[in-house]
Amino acid sequence: MSAATAGSTAPMFEKVALLGAGLIGSSLAWAIRSRGLAKHVSAYSRRAETRAVIEQLGFADSLHADAGDAVQGADLVIFCVPVGANAAVAAEAGPHIAAGAIVTDVGSVKQAVVRDIGPCLPEGVEFIPGHPIAGTEHSGPGAGFADLFEQRWCILTPVPGTPEAVVDKLQSFWERCGSMVTIMDAGHHDKVLAITSHLPHLIAYTIVGTAVDLEESTRAEVVKFSAGGFRDFTRIAGSDPVMWRDVFLNNRESVLEMLQRFSEDLTALQRAIRWGEGETLEGLFRRTREIRRGVIEAHQAGSFDAREPERSGLSGSGPGKASPGED
Ligand code: NAP
Repeated sequence: MSAATAGSTAPMFEKVALLGAGLIGSSLAWAIRSRGLAKHVSAYSRRAETRAVIEQLGFADSLHADAGDAVQGADLVIFCVPVGANAAVAAEAGPHIAAGAIVTDVGSVKQAVVRDIGPCLPEGVEFIPGHPIAGTEHSGPGAGFADLFEQRWCILTPVPGTPEAVVDKLQSFWERCGSMVTIMDAGHHDKVLAITSHLPHLIAYTIVGTAVDLEESTRAEVVKFSAGGFRDFTRIAGSDPVMWRDVFLNNRESVLEMLQRFSEDLTALQRAIRWGEGETLEGLFRRTREIRRGVIEAHQAGSFDAREPERSGLSGSGPGKASPGED
């Protein structure tokens, strides 16, 4: 934990502007409010229906249909829209962001974010891309809750030359939201997340799609007996279609590279099954079981308790649902 975080309870920012207030944006709003991190939280949301929901939930002090209005006077601006929407939202908000503000984002890919947001920001603004490795398969403003980031990693990918004090301040912000923070290069982030998050989602989308394409009678049995492993794939494959479309289109190279490696390994397994090579199969399954133990020991396992989505916001400060992390 950074020195600035330890024991501090004072607000860190005058005004935080959330550009997009779906699952991640609304969770940030609840976290900021419950931990007193800012005096004012403004939210931008494009659609009137979504703004009506946000208004009813009451997690924003001001609500805007225009991103430029939302960022007026903000000393922290956080992009929380799907990665493919960043360029347009940045073009609308950029000219209105005050010099001295910190700008960050929560997108699941990082190189594309640097490409799309960076050029729209005025002089004197510090841009530090970020990615909380936290989430659920739910989306929209009603899904958020204050403790979403608790004990989850947040990766910051500052561009070279970013003042250390600014990185420290953003790190403290995430730590006070409950996260553990690590710093890495944007390209490295995109490779790591391609294998730990993007490929698993692609596999889940594929396996559920394949099952759905089977005949009607088989499909009924797929749902009926889904507890046999398939259930967890359906949970992941229930994640937001727009968000994940944008992830794959914006991390194309790393995903294709990992997919190639995965296909080769799958072919090797196929061969082992065909030739009855039990030792190969058991050897791999033993290794992967060790990995699972490591994930549990690192407290990053979540739980697959089917009742978990019924638990309302862990802190009681948001209406959202907790379930194992998407990212
Ligand atoms: P979400 O719940 O679907 O919310 C996204 C919000 O963005 C929506 O409320 C929507 O508001 C707005 N939006 C969508 N398309 C837009 C467009 N073209 N222009 C302007 N606004 C638009 O998504 P989320 O899960 O919070 O994800 C937000 C970001 O967090 C994404 O970049 C994602 O990669 C990242 N992330 C997600 C997770 C996760 O598990 N979900 C985890 C870590 C990071 P309107 O209804 O008003 O259009």
